[in-house]
Amino acid sequence: MSSQLLKVEGIQKAFPINGGILGRKIGEVKAVQDISFTLEKGETFGLVGESGCGKSTTGRMLLRLIEPDQGSIWFEDKDLTKLNTNEMRKMRKEMQMIFQDPYASLNPRHPVQKILEEPLIVHGMANPKERKQKVLDMLEVVGLSPYHAKRYPHQFSGGQRQRIGIARALMTNPKLIIADEPVSALDVSIQSQVLNLLNELQETFQLTYIFISHDLGVVRHISNRVGVMYLGRMMELAPTEDLYNEPLHPYTKTLLSAIPVPDPDLNRERIVVRGDVPDPSNPPTGCPFHTRCPDKLDICSQKIPTFKEMKNGHFVACHLYE
Ligand code: SF4
Repeated sequence: MSSQLLKVEGIQKAFPINGGILGRKIGEVKAVQDISFTLEKGETFGLVGESGCGKSTTGRMLLRLIEPDQGSIWFEDKDLTKLNTNEMRKMRKEMQMIFQDPYASLNPRHPVQKILEEPLIVHGMANPKERKQKVLDMLEVVGLSPYHAKRYPHQFSGGQRQRIGIARALMTNPKLIIADEPVSALDVSIQSQVLNLLNELQETFQLTYIFISHDLGVVRHISNRVGVMYLGRMMELAPTEDLYNEPLHPYTKTLLSAIPVPDPDLNRERIVVRGDVPDPSNPPTGCPFHTRCPDKLDICSQKIPTFKEMKNGHFVACHLYE
């Protein structure tokens, strides 16, 4: 039996920019360009990059909450891009999302019991008695108590609300969880509790995660492999320790050099990049990072580097390695 759960091939997404009196399309933002990767069952794949690099759009495209313009998304033996609305709705039972802001993603007018039951009702799973019991069980699984079922989202702390968000994602027994910045809105002490909970749940329920974050420290803590995105493209992808110990791409090196180190005697050189991230509606030609890259070659502004494997599972898109 294949151990591969997901295979993403060349997905792309551009959002139109409309303007003028008639609101016609006057341009487009290329949010995601030619992203490919695979995901093994039971692994955690971290997707990192600065705000606006396309990592959240990529996550949403995998569930077709945003429709890809091109490419295919194989979940086990099904190409999700070929499914109709009804078939896709059924597939979402297997693939759930955890959002950054648990407060905004929970209906404030519903008690927790109703919030957690909803995915079961949508997917026609279990009778009312079974649903009620499953909610109570799931609250305990995520570290809350059965009496919390009667409370409303505003009666919880941020960390507890994220636990409810996680419980809701788990209600349909999914295989894949896409967590989009799930701890970014939480205090540091609560962050580690939620990360530990995600780790425990992965083991208990054999979950596969895509963990999207701008925080490389958090991603290192939880991921088996990491992909680094910049301006809608994948720049580097590698097993976590390879990426953090031997980064190849100049952009990854700059990101890693900016992580604070707890040891004051460790004098790590900070690589400062020039300029801002270019406008995604008018991306640079060639390598998207060439306008800021400290190692730029002549060819970099003319040709997009190919994304190729340098050694076991370590991929990079950079002319320095061609
Ligand atoms: Fe820098 Fe060129 Fe590599 Fe892009 S391809 S990261 S500009 S060296």
